[in-house]
Amino acid sequence: MRGKIQTKVSFVFFIFLALGVIITGAISLLLLKTTIPSSQIDSVISSKLVIYELLSMAIGFIISYFIGSQYIKRVVAPIRELAKTTKKITRGELVKSEPIKSSQDEIGELSVNFHLINKKLEDAIGELQEKNSNMDAVLKSMINGVIALNKKREIVMVNPFAEEIFGITQEQVIGKTMSESVFSKNITEKIDSLSIENPRMKFEAEVNFPIYKICSFSCSIMTHPEDPTKFTGIAIIIQDITEIRKLENMRRDFVANVSHELQTPLTSIKGFLETLREGRVEDKATRDRFLDIITIETDRLFSLIQDILSLSEIENKERQDEKELMETNEIIDDVIQNMSQVARIRDIKLEIVSPVKLTPIIGNKKWFKQMLINLLDNALKYTSDGGKVELIAKEDDKNLIIKVRDNGMGIPKEDQPRIFERFYRVDKARSREVGGTGLGLAIVKHVAISMEGRVEVESEIDKGTEFTVTIPICGKNK
Ligand code: ADP
Repeated sequence: MRGKIQTKVSFVFFIFLALGVIITGAISLLLLKTTIPSSQIDSVISSKLVIYELLSMAIGFIISYFIGSQYIKRVVAPIRELAKTTKKITRGELVKSEPIKSSQDEIGELSVNFHLINKKLEDAIGELQEKNSNMDAVLKSMINGVIALNKKREIVMVNPFAEEIFGITQEQVIGKTMSESVFSKNITEKIDSLSIENPRMKFEAEVNFPIYKICSFSCSIMTHPEDPTKFTGIAIIIQDITEIRKLENMRRDFVANVSHELQTPLTSIKGFLETLREGRVEDKATRDRFLDIITIETDRLFSLIQDILSLSEIENKERQDEKELMETNEIIDDVIQNMSQVARIRDIKLEIVSPVKLTPIIGNKKWFKQMLINLLDNALKYTSDGGKVELIAKEDDKNLIIKVRDNGMGIPKEDQPRIFERFYRVDKARSREVGGTGLGLAIVKHVAISMEGRVEVESEIDKGTEFTVTIPICGKNK
């Protein structure tokens, strides 16, 4: 189709030109015949005149055609140029157009106007592209999920965080409704209920795939900017609140547990004190027994408060600045010294196995000591009289490894993953009997974490338990 206009104009021009030349030739011949009497023109001159006439018509035709077609080319060229540019624009190509050099005629004006329109279009597209890429960057960097639905409630956009939360990719869900995608019924039903009359909604829901999460959904309908009654889609913002809820639950459980733990000894102390005050116990032996119980319960309260304070101190990040270079062998000797008295009374063999001089490590000395005391204290508490407790200290090329091993009662497999939780006890009565607070291993775990280390347990019922603490040694190749 290229050059169509030129062909058409040339064709019309050619027809008119031919007609013009024929008419001019015919008129000049007619004039010649009417002005000069035929008697004066002999047949030879007459035939020559016709040939000259035809020749001059042909030469006139060729010259006019040549000049005319050159002119047409010049006139049509800018129109062809414009047609080419508009074609590119309709194909979606961005074209940098320059005003076409043309005369001050209508085509020139058309070209300038077109150039201005194209420039405005270019600016608007550029602005839109910039806005789009800014929006894209914002959506990509958001730590909330965003999903947008169109007026047919089909998904038109899913940002990377939403892809991660729901284990989907944008390509999988684009063009589908929420219910056709992976979203569960309780989520889609709520979102489907949004309308002009019910434009906003906030709810929490559990997401089970790809991993369990609790999410908060804030949904609002989108309307036409000039007609708020015209529904254009739905925007959904999703926040992963699993950690927040977990922490809230932990805090709630902790407060409930602490209250419960405090209540038991306090009720017992109060009861015995009241009985003693009322003077109902007359014999000295019973009074002494009551006083002993009050002392034991008071000690239990003291230990409990002490452990709660230690735990909060260890977890308080600011206090972690109090770190120093510790001589590990010295601290181990010190702790064994402290515990040996109890071991002797219970006839438990307490041994240190430390074949090498250990590399000093960096940490909080008080907490490190507390960690070893808690592990040895448990080993002694849950091992029968006459048993054996060992502390093995060694290091590999990266870590200090401390093992506390006993041949006591052991821990059932199903309880092992939970023993590091606050107030978790395998046998509540036994723990209370031996003066446990249920916080000892939680403290051990947090001290290890504060030193970028970890603690693991291996245990078999009636055979014994082994706790292994692994702490990276500063300065050693990691
Ligand atoms: P507790 O003050 O009750 O000892 P811990 O947090 O120190 O609390 O320990 C949690 C539970 O783990 C204990 O109640 C006990 O059931 C179990 N446990 C810990 N250490 C040992 C061990 N060496 N042998 C057997 N059971 C243990």
